[in-house]
Amino acid sequence: MTKPVKKVVILGGGTAGWMAAALLQKVVGPIIDVELVESEAIGTVGVGEATIPPIKLVNQVLGFNEAEFIKETNATIKLAIKFENWKRQGESYYHTFGAPGKSFAFCHFHHFWKRAVDNGYSESLWDFDLNYLCCEEGKFAQINSKDPILDLVYAYHFDASLYAKYLRKLAEGFGVTRTEGMVQKVEQNEQGYIEALHLKSGQKIAGDLFIDCSGFKGLLIQETLGAGFDDWSHWLPCDRAVAVPSERFEHTAPYTRSIAHSAGWQWRIPLQHRNGNGLVYSSSHYDEQDAMDLIMQNLESEPLDDPRVIRFKTGRRRKQWHRNVVSVGLSSGFLEPLESTSIHLIQSAIVRLIQLFPHQGIDDANVAEYNRQSKVEFEQIRDFLILHYHLNERDDSQFWRDLREMEIPDTLAHKMSLFAESGGLFREQNDLFLEPSWMQVMMGQGIMPKDYHPIANNMPQDKLFAMLNEILRVKREPLSKLPMHDAFLKTYCDSYRG
Ligand SMILES: Cc1cc2nc3c(=O)[nH]c(=O)nc-3n(C[C@H](O)[C@H](O)[C@H](O)COP(=O)(O)OP(=O)(O)OC[C@H]3O[C@@H](n4cnc5c(N)ncnc54)[C@H](O)[C@@H]3O)c2cc1C
Repeated sequence: MTKPVKKVVILGGGTAGWMAAALLQKVVGPIIDVELVESEAIGTVGVGEATIPPIKLVNQVLGFNEAEFIKETNATIKLAIKFENWKRQGESYYHTFGAPGKSFAFCHFHHFWKRAVDNGYSESLWDFDLNYLCCEEGKFAQINSKDPILDLVYAYHFDASLYAKYLRKLAEGFGVTRTEGMVQKVEQNEQGYIEALHLKSGQKIAGDLFIDCSGFKGLLIQETLGAGFDDWSHWLPCDRAVAVPSERFEHTAPYTRSIAHSAGWQWRIPLQHRNGNGLVYSSSHYDEQDAMDLIMQNLESEPLDDPRVIRFKTGRRRKQWHRNVVSVGLSSGFLEPLESTSIHLIQSAIVRLIQLFPHQGIDDANVAEYNRQSKVEFEQIRDFLILHYHLNERDDSQFWRDLREMEIPDTLAHKMSLFAESGGLFREQNDLFLEPSWMQVMMGQGIMPKDYHPIANNMPQDKLFAMLNEILRVKREPLSKLPMHDAFLKTYCDSYRG
C-alpha cells in the first residue's frame, strides 16, 4: 500500500479533466486537494456533444440549475437517436431513452405486443413509446403525472467547449486549483509510481494520485506507464471522423440523427445556436477526401468552419488504473460515438474511483476491482455497438458485407440468439443499456423473435387488444398539449434569471 492520498493531480482540461475535478472536489473535497494542469497550446478534442440520461446524476450532484445549464451550454433536449439507413437504405428506426408500453412483473411488454401482432394487430411497437411519439412531433416538456408510463426520459445535446467551461467554473468555485502549462517530463520513483509532473515553465507539480485526462495519447497511463491497449478495431473498424459545425436549422429536433453511409455513418446534433455534424468512417474502406466531400455535400445548413479530421482507434486501456494513475476519458480507451457513451464512461469512471477512493493509500485489491468493473463496462458497450453494424442487410459496399459476415463476441451472439428464439432479454450486471435499448436496436435492425412468453396468453385476445389500445390512448393523450421543442427551450431558458 502507498502513503495516504491527500493530493490529487489531474492532467488535462477537457470534459474528462473538468468533470473529474468538479466531482472529486465536491464529493471527496474535504480530505483532498485537487490541482488540474492543462495546456491551452494543446487544446481539447472539442467534440462530444450528445449525452445519455445518467448525465443528469452528475448535474444533480454538482448542484446544476437545469435552466441555467441549458442556457449556458446552448443545449437542447435529446429523447432518442434516429438510425437511418442502418438496416437497409431508405429505412429507419429510433433507439429512444423511453420504453414501449408499460412494465409487467414477469415478462416484458414486447411479448404481449408480439402475441397481438401474430394475431393481426397492426400498431408498431414504437407507437407505444412516448419518447418516440414526441420525437416524431418535435415536441417536449415534462408531463405532470403520477403515472410512470408518462415519464419522458431524456438527456442533452450541448456545445462541448461551453460544457467544459461550465464545469471549470464550478470546479474552481469548489476550490480546484488550475495550473496552465505543458507537461514536459514525468518523474517516477523506483517502483515506477509517479511522483511529479514537470512543466515547460520549470514548475514541478507533485501528487499522491494522478488522473490521466490527457486525451487519446494517455501521457501518463500509456506513454509513461505502458498500461497496454486492447484493440477492438476488427469489430468496430471506423477509425476517423470529419467534424464540421453548421448554422442551426429552423427547428431543432429533440433527437440525434445517425445516418449510415457506404463506409460508416454521419451524426447530426441540433444545438440552440448551431448544428454539430460529423462523418465517422473506416479509413480502410473510404478515402479522406471523399469523406470531406460527402459531409460537406450532406450539410443541411451553411458550414461555420472548415471540416476537421480526428483519428481514433477503438478499444480500451488494458489497465485503466495502473500504479498511482487512473485514466479517465479518451486516455482510458475509446468506443466510437454511435451511442454517445464516452462522456458517460467519464462519469462512471469518476464515480467508481470515488467509491473505491484510496484515502489510506493505494492497494492492489482496490485497483483490481476498479479494473474489473471498467473492463465489464467497456465490453458491454462494445457489444451493443457491434450489434448495430453486424445486423445490417445492406449490400451496397464491402464495409457492410464485412461487418455482417465477421465473427462477433460470444456474449453478443448469445444475446441475439436468445432474443431471436424466444424474445428473451436479460440485463447483464450493471449493463448501461437496459432491455428496451437492446430490444429496440435488435428489432430495428431486423430481428423479430420467433416466440413470445406464455404469460402473454393468459388473457383472452379481445382483452389483450383492448389493453393495448388503452395504453396507446394514455400515451397519445398528452401530446396535443405539449409545446414544440424550440418553444420549450425558449420558455425554459427565459425562466432563468441568474
Ligand atoms: C469524433 C468524436 C465524436 C465524439 N462524440 C461524442 C458524443 O457525441 N458524446 C460523447 O459522450 N462523447 C463523444 N466523444 C468523446 C468525447 O469527445 C470525449 O470523451 C471528451 O471530449 C473527453 O475528452 P478528454 O477530456 O478525455 O480529452 P481532450 O478533450 O483531448 O483533453 C485532453 C486535455 O489534456 C491536455 N493535455 C494533453 N497533453 C498535455 C500536456 N503534455 N501538458 C498539459 N496538458 C496536456 C490538453 O490540453 C487537454 O486539456 C466523441 C469523440 C470523438 C473523437
